[in-house]
Amino acid sequence: MTLAHPLVVKFGGATLSKPADVVDWVRRRRAAHGPVVVVLSAREGVTDLLRSVIATPRARTKHARVLRQIAELHPALPREGLQRLTRLRLLIQEAERRGKVDPPLADRIVSQGERLAVQWMLPQMSAAGIPAVGVEADHLGIITNNEYGASTILLDRSEPSVRRTLLRWLRAGRVPVVTGFVGRSLEGRVTTLGRGGSDYTATALGAMLRSRRVELVKRGVSVLTGDPRRIPTARPIARLSYDEAEELAQFGAKVLHPLTVEPAREFGIEVDVMPLDLPGANTVIGPSSGPPGMRAVTLLSPVALVRIRVPGGRQRPGVVAEVSRRLTAAGLNIVTLFTSSTLLTVVLEASKASKGRAALQPLADRDRMVLDGPHRVGLLMAIGDGVLGDIARLAPSSLKLGEGLSATPRSVTLAVPTRDAPRVLLEMHRALVEQRTP
Ligand code: ASP
Ligand code: MG
Repeated sequence: MTLAHPLVVKFGGATLSKPADVVDWVRRRRAAHGPVVVVLSAREGVTDLLRSVIATPRARTKHARVLRQIAELHPALPREGLQRLTRLRLLIQEAERRGKVDPPLADRIVSQGERLAVQWMLPQMSAAGIPAVGVEADHLGIITNNEYGASTILLDRSEPSVRRTLLRWLRAGRVPVVTGFVGRSLEGRVTTLGRGGSDYTATALGAMLRSRRVELVKRGVSVLTGDPRRIPTARPIARLSYDEAEELAQFGAKVLHPLTVEPAREFGIEVDVMPLDLPGANTVIGPSSGPPGMRAVTLLSPVALVRIRVPGGRQRPGVVAEVSRRLTAAGLNIVTLFTSSTLLTVVLEASKASKGRAALQPLADRDRMVLDGPHRVGLLMAIGDGVLGDIARLAPSSLKLGEGLSATPRSVTLAVPTRDAPRVLLEMHRALVEQRTP
């Protein structure tokens, strides 16, 4: 009996299209491991449907269609599940009435996807002899900050109540089936964790329960050396360190939610990403990296850069802080930054770059700085411990296109003109992944 270290298994939305696979997985894990906590994402497409309602709060006809589609995706709901469906209908009516959806209402609406998924899976698990019990994460006591739509779980605040409830069920021999993606803010309202957030729920629960392992079960996606739509030769990565996985998740590799790694790192939990339809494509994320030379490449495009020439550069301390303060005040996030002593290049989301330049103009006028841009670029990144030593492998013709380059021992970031980005990405993958002799 390993009640001290329950296994947390999270099923992604696409896995729910074959409930029998999910049920089977849980049964096998219980037999092999003992106590299991299940985390579910919404069924594939449901979160998008709910977000489409939020995007057009007055579109009643569309909403009726969305509700029908969602109901069809969750047939044979038990009574409690039907109540969730009614609740969703009422929330959507509230959105229609208000004609505007504020972030807390938006979160209440999108959180229904996970609630319905749990309600829909419960009878199917019970029918297969799994003593499942539904648990809604906000009621469980997953406390988050007040950042609706992209909240952060407060592990210390959440732990007592989460442990009390889940360990009680586990001790009673039950299998808690928890809604991923959902929490409750400090001010007591429903929050959601951002797209793909049920991965994060799973590692957070793992941390609070002192699990040794968390499984993220997916369908049709795996952690690869590159985006297969852009790089046909991309291959699965067997092992990643926390640091590597975090870089990868932060930088647009959609397969992992960006905060997923954090709770795992804190408690040394092994995170296994397991695509159930792609045998051999599992990825283990843990304290140590894989064989030396593991590399992954990503492309973020389009983003745009604004150059700031600072006459007297080094003589002017605080310039970076001032630039970042003004951008933050304008609600803009710096994607990355390239600097020399006189030239500061900030990279922003493409759609917000002009706003960024405008926010910096008064500063430029005051301090006689010269602004240039925005210029659209693609941001290429190579990730892996020791990747800085790989720069010489990159073709000079690619490097020459660079509008900026920055690096740490485990990541190299290169900005190139948008039109060249796909080609340079392929070249990077060839040089750093395919042509590497281990
Ligand atoms: N259902 C949510 C989403 O689609 C959370 C998740 O899938 O993990 O983003
Ligand atoms: Mg989903």
